[in-house]
Amino acid sequence: ANLFGGLEEQKPDALLALIGMCNADPRPEKIDVGVGVYRDSAGGTPILRAVKAAEKILLETQQTKTYLGSQGDAHYVELLRPIIFGDAGDQDRIVGVQTPGGCGALRLGADLIAKANPEARIFVGQPTWPNHMPLIECAGVKMVAHPYYDRDSRSITFDAMMDALNEARAGDLLLLHGCCHNPTGADLDLDQWKAVADLVARNGLVPFVDLAYQGLGNGLEPDAAGTRLVVEAAEQALVAHSCDKNFGVYRERTGSLFIKGRNRTEAGKVFGNLMSLARTMWSMPPDHGAAVVRIILDDAELRADWNTELQEMCARIRALRARLAAFDPRLAYIDGQNGMFSMLPLSKEAVVALRSEHGIYMADSGRFNVVGLSDESVDRFAAAVVEKL
Ligand code: PMP
Repeated sequence: ANLFGGLEEQKPDALLALIGMCNADPRPEKIDVGVGVYRDSAGGTPILRAVKAAEKILLETQQTKTYLGSQGDAHYVELLRPIIFGDAGDQDRIVGVQTPGGCGALRLGADLIAKANPEARIFVGQPTWPNHMPLIECAGVKMVAHPYYDRDSRSITFDAMMDALNEARAGDLLLLHGCCHNPTGADLDLDQWKAVADLVARNGLVPFVDLAYQGLGNGLEPDAAGTRLVVEAAEQALVAHSCDKNFGVYRERTGSLFIKGRNRTEAGKVFGNLMSLARTMWSMPPDHGAAVVRIILDDAELRADWNTELQEMCARIRALRARLAAFDPRLAYIDGQNGMFSMLPLSKEAVVALRSEHGIYMADSGRFNVVGLSDESVDRFAAAVVEKL
């Protein structure tokens, strides 16, 4: 018998294919707004000063590489806690573990849900990050898609979303983007978050917040406001957090998963289950990224420098958004959105034409990375795009 005979060919990841096409394009004026990483005004993604400094400290002071255990770096987790949850009450009901990136946090959360209640469903707004559904369904959890954003009217379809969420039963979960919605950039405003929090409390729903871009929308605190509202309203909640973007350590796979239980005892039981599930997957998370984040957050000077750099990244994104919005009324909505991404209501033909005519590389969905633009390319990009709208 041929072990691999039953495998089907897999399509290469669409975004990786786009990167390949862009790299192969010889035109010097090409514009890469495909891949989702921060870029500075020179088009690079350099290592943050604070990260470089922390890596030096780590190199000089680390005494051992012995195992840390399945929870990873507990001090890293505790330093993140106030950044995510502030000084909200009920903290003794919230447990946290380090994970391999935000992806690891989502996957660990999904595995816990599948183990705890195979009947639970996760409601997820459309469109969402393309990896959300495969990643969570792979753990065996059923997902229910519901409306979230309408590309053509460039707005959140809040009433349709709330209607759909009324179908959720007690114990069902809501997958919510904490800030900087990927792929649309369209975040709930505070009143909308409050309405979701009320629904969560009223119907016994469980928020599962994906907070992968904290600090890149409007700042660390504002970007956590929605998360805090729904977590406080809920009896039980999950938060998948990532430091890969806001510390710029993408490949170091630096994430965490926090879970709120009904009480301390339940939270302790959840923690034990997270440990045993982690052991069956990665056993222990990779250390380097979390150690670097821990060193930065633990040192007043490095922490202040990181904050400065994060605010610079955030300000650059906001400035590019404002400039696109000012270019043409049809792009005005981009300034009201957050994070690295927005979506253009372009046909697939238009996206392909922008590629061949102008060397502009964006996803077929019309999602583009705002911060892939530069002072030099932003108006050129806007002019080419509005032609196709
Ligand atoms: N959630 C969302 C919405 C994302 O966009 C990403 C990364 N693209 C992640 C989670 C995962 O981040 P990480 O690289 O930390 O696994």
